[in-house]
Amino acid sequence: MKVSQKIVGALSRRLTVLIIPQTRMKPWRLQCSTAFFIFMLFLWSGVTVWSGIVVGRHTDYWITKADNQVMLAKMTRLAQEMEQARHTLDQATATDRQLRGLLTMARDRDPIDAATGVGGPSLSDRLSLNRMLSGRADSMRQADWHHEISRLRKDAERRLASFQEIAWYVGNQKSLRNATPSLWPTEGQITSLFGYRFSPMSREDAESGEFHPGLDIANSPDTLIYATADGTVRFSRWSQGYGNMIIIDHGYGLSTLYGHTSKAVVKTGDRVIKGQVIGYMGTTGRSTGAHLHYEVWRQGRAVNPMTFLKVRAAGELLGEAPRPPRAQS
Ligand SMILES: [Zn+2]
Repeated sequence: MKVSQKIVGALSRRLTVLIIPQTRMKPWRLQCSTAFFIFMLFLWSGVTVWSGIVVGRHTDYWITKADNQVMLAKMTRLAQEMEQARHTLDQATATDRQLRGLLTMARDRDPIDAATGVGGPSLSDRLSLNRMLSGRADSMRQADWHHEISRLRKDAERRLASFQEIAWYVGNQKSLRNATPSLWPTEGQITSLFGYRFSPMSREDAESGEFHPGLDIANSPDTLIYATADGTVRFSRWSQGYGNMIIIDHGYGLSTLYGHTSKAVVKTGDRVIKGQVIGYMGTTGRSTGAHLHYEVWRQGRAVNPMTFLKVRAAGELLGEAPRPPRAQS
């Protein structure tokens, strides 16, 4: 007998499944061919595997969805914390401006204003944060998060720099005050002010006037001359026109010049303090009588010394002192 005939014979053999209930009910007798039984066995296995896959996929879907909900809640919480950080930064900005106002610091020195005009977050940043806070954090792109976090960090760094500048400003107030030439350089009468005037020395300038870059104060020879602010002597020797001249560097872009002295008692490199005697009044150089020619330089330009002096004693000297008899150089 061939093998195929044997297989066909085996498959066509009938099987009987007998189910006997525990009650008095009649037993169930199911009859089918071996081929049908094997077919049902495969069908049952297939359905079991397929349903297992479907259930597995659904489980993954629900777990992922639950994870997303948790993630969304975390992102919304993060957005709220960022909003709080932004609010704190806004308060720091307001305090910063208040401090600068109290310290009468120039507004244009505010690094925030200089960098961004108004400081704080832009409208688009606000909208971006609002989108996060309104529970749509999932619609935020990674770039938006990165942008928002980096803006917060940059704002915090700028604010820190601003407060450090304020700390530096407060710390340097004393040295700045001492470096400001607010002291009268000598005693006497003002014989020439800063600005254009008719020169007593050169008649050809009399028509057009000559610019006088300093202040002339006349008194008897050898009247004491004082350093008008703390600083370092940068020049103390003869100079054409100015005679014995002293220049003091006060830092902060400020320096002062003292001309026509009879004698200087400081030398180049000396450290001087405000009010220290640096020389004596004379008439050396291009001068018509004993007087001090005093100049103040700021950022490389001669400025009116009275702007530093009038705060304290301009009224005293200008109001009560007799008018200068004649201009002197
Ligand atoms: Zn002068």
